[in-house]
Amino acid sequence: MKCPACGKEMTHISAEDYHYLESGLDNVILRGIDVFRCPCGEEVARIPSIDELHTLIGRKLVKKNSLLNGKEIRFLRKNIGVSAQKLARQMGVDNATISRWENNKQRITKSHDLHLRLIYCNMKRIPPEEISHLIQEEFPKVQEGYTDIPTHVIPRAEWSKEHSCISS
Ligand SMILES: [Zn+2]
Repeated sequence: MKCPACGKEMTHISAEDYHYLESGLDNVILRGIDVFRCPCGEEVARIPSIDELHTLIGRKLVKKNSLLNGKEIRFLRKNIGVSAQKLARQMGVDNATISRWENNKQRITKSHDLHLRLIYCNMKRIPPEEISHLIQEEFPKVQEGYTDIPTHVIPRAEWSKEHSCISS
């Protein structure tokens, strides 16, 4: 693969841990990813089945046992392809509130947080049994306030059945 920045041939490193900042989240590490590096500093990751990956991340977030932070709220909203205006209407808040939540200028309340998780599950067509489990088992564990959430290390096999690329 040629470097998109300088045109040189990049070095292929297979099965790397990749800090997936493109997700918009700070704490997602993808394990077993093909990464291409250039001496100029450019780095390109080949991430298979992005839709499946984002769904998997979303499912982890809706089970989180503390309130969603701004980046997580934005991730969930974007993953269901809903505008801030539309989400505001669905949640009974004004547009500015969504923006303040997403920019960490205002904390989401616990009931809005859980409401958002349910909207997400509904839009993603998560099976009813899984939603029931969330409501009965996971939601009662959600604590008020924010806690530092552990880094999600996601092995590639969890979301992609595609074979790792061998050629470089
Ligand atoms: Zn380069």
